[in-house]
Amino acid sequence: MSKPHEVVIVGSGIAGLSAAVYTARADLEPLVLEGPEPGGQLTLTTDVENYLGFPDGVGGMELIQHGKEQAKRFGATFEHGTVEAASVEGEPMELQLSNGESLRTHALIVATGASARWVGAANEDDLMGYGLSTCATCDGAFHRGDDVLVIGGGDSAMEEALFLAKFADSVTIVHRRDELRASDIMARRAREHEKIGFRWNAELLAIHGSEETGVTGATLVSHPDGHPREKLDDNAGERAAAGDPVDPAADVDVDRVDVGGIFYGVGHVPNTAFLADTPISLDEDGYIETTGGMTTETGVPGVFAAGDVMDPNYRQAITAAGTGSMAALDTEAWLESRAAAETDRQVATAEADD
Ligand SMILES: Cc1cc2nc3c(=O)[nH]c(=O)nc-3n(C[C@H](O)[C@H](O)[C@H](O)COP(=O)(O)OP(=O)(O)OC[C@H]3O[C@@H](n4cnc5c(N)ncnc54)[C@H](O)[C@@H]3O)c2cc1C
Repeated sequence: MSKPHEVVIVGSGIAGLSAAVYTARADLEPLVLEGPEPGGQLTLTTDVENYLGFPDGVGGMELIQHGKEQAKRFGATFEHGTVEAASVEGEPMELQLSNGESLRTHALIVATGASARWVGAANEDDLMGYGLSTCATCDGAFHRGDDVLVIGGGDSAMEEALFLAKFADSVTIVHRRDELRASDIMARRAREHEKIGFRWNAELLAIHGSEETGVTGATLVSHPDGHPREKLDDNAGERAAAGDPVDPAADVDVDRVDVGGIFYGVGHVPNTAFLADTPISLDEDGYIETTGGMTTETGVPGVFAAGDVMDPNYRQAITAAGTGSMAALDTEAWLESRAAAETDRQVATAEADD
């Protein structure tokens, strides 16, 4: 069996890269597992305008590529690999990868970020990638001249809509309430854009189209009090998708709109499924809970967390990079204290033998 790594960093987003730079500079020779989305969420965006040090903004991909080069320069290595399960109570810890291989490590930094949330509309499984998308920056250019919908009312939805407005003829933001959750600046930009409109108190019930045609339309429901889907039964979406009557409850309007694309902008879920059978504490949404205050410690010795996977509040590139560096420093201190304890133990054993 191969020698355990000193530290493995799971995830190659900006948090993982920042942890890699710091642990590599500390001569810990980190291994970074890149996961299903090498480079993480920032590879999905074009301009990052709020990352300190770039007065004219910086491309998300460019920022990630520079981070990776920087980490490699100090000795970090990168491998394709997705962790499916972890055993973190033993020494060394063991990670099971989706390709059947396993890795051993003394310390672990979890920087697996978060994945886009789906809304549960009928046909979304079939049409994801065929006109339905969670990433405007990836797929927006396919929708030149289309009318498109963006689902959501937070910053993610505003960002998707503003990006799509560069290509689409019209962008309609469908939000289940009558006020946005987005920050004031993002909401104002969307409201002031001539191509962007709003459907308030409305939800997406079903998506129409096929793999051959792509998305051709959507069934929307609306209610003056918002959250209209709550007023319908669970199978209403399937009936709408099949073209059958939905039997709406009182005051629920159902209408079908012709659109060429639908984008989900309803946030993210933390990528922590592989930690389910570990003692690492997760909150009710699946985010890793650290032990409190300014630390990345998870409460399991040698396991640290960084970036969006432990941050339900800020979810910014700069905060992810910041907690990445914190996790690296916490890891370095933990490995040093472990080595010092081992030295003390050996000295005590030698003295007892004398
Ligand atoms: C479209 C878009 C635009 C954005 N724009 C901005 C912006 O302008 N400014 C800003 O500050 N922030 C922006 N953000 C937010 C920012 O991208 C995130 O806060 C940041 O990327 C979080 O970094 P992270 O490293 O924690 O996670 P992520 O970037 O999500 O990276 C997670 C990494 O973990 C890996 N991974 C996941 N599961 C596993 C597994 N089981 N095994 C191994 N690896 C795994 C993935 O492959 C990925 O490499 C944007 C986000 C999006 C989606």
